[in-house]
Amino acid sequence: MTSAYSRLEGKVAVITGGASGIGEAAARLFASHGAAVVIADIQDDLGRSVAASISPSGNCTFVHCDVRDEAQVAAAVAHAVEAHGRIDVMFSNAGVVGTMASVLELDLAELDNVMAVHLRGAAASIKHAGRAMAAGGSIICTASVASVQAGFAPAAYVAAKHAILGLVKAAAAELGPNGVRVNCVSPFGLATPLMCSAMGMSPQKVDDVTSAASVLKGKVLKTEDVAAAALFLASDESAFVSGHNLIVDGATTVVGASLSAVLQLSSH
Ligand code: NAD
Repeated sequence: MTSAYSRLEGKVAVITGGASGIGEAAARLFASHGAAVVIADIQDDLGRSVAASISPSGNCTFVHCDVRDEAQVAAAVAHAVEAHGRIDVMFSNAGVVGTMASVLELDLAELDNVMAVHLRGAAASIKHAGRAMAAGGSIICTASVASVQAGFAPAAYVAAKHAILGLVKAAAAELGPNGVRVNCVSPFGLATPLMCSAMGMSPQKVDDVTSAASVLKGKVLKTEDVAAAALFLASDESAFVSGHNLIVDGATTVVGASLSAVLQLSSH
């Protein structure tokens, strides 16, 4: 069933990392707004089951795609174009955190992997979706509050998210003449498998810690809130928004709060 006010009617969207967390919420929301959605992820069983759960009321399929491999990203875009005749939205969202360790203990192989998933994955997604968006389109990359501030995540992750922001600005400048908008959505911490596993906490404990760190009280950030911000950037409602970093953090980076400070406090 599509929403009464369908904001993506007739559009085709590819969502990397769409099998779980923010990407899954976006797949559900985009499909409910009339988009045909292709979930591109490395979790095949989960991705297929999420797509199947959306399909009775929407239009959603799964394709295996490791975003570190350019050919697989190109194939995911080609799959969307073959199946639906076009691609209007690329949500480059796949991500990993890496070990929560000091920069003094940095494993450079892990740095390479974090950069490959985030920066290489986003670059391949922008390149191949941008090529296929002959009639214009919207590309959204999930960055993070770590794209503008340290203190929330390990150094490799902070570096990768800063790099995504630079990539998005460059791509927005270059692809604007083609009618392609490129933006970031940058969430604060929220309970997803990625965050729970990185922090070794239950979803409830992550909610407690992030709520304590966040400036905005009375509201816990959920995947649906980030998906709603991505929906705005995907839809024509943001038709003149490009090169923007839409930070979804309840003003937390405005005051420079840090999750690690809260974690240190909570351990005392
Ligand atoms: P998640 O673990 O629920 O989802 C991440 C998805 O990315 C998973 O389905 C995973 O299989 C997929 N993925 C990982 N490596 C991949 C690869 N090489 N190729 C294709 N898919 C791959 O976590 P999430 O929190 O929903 O993460 C989504 C994005 O949000 C990530 O980019 C993450 O960095 C970002 N983010 C998360 C938070 C948070 O607190 N959860 C905050 C800011 C930004």
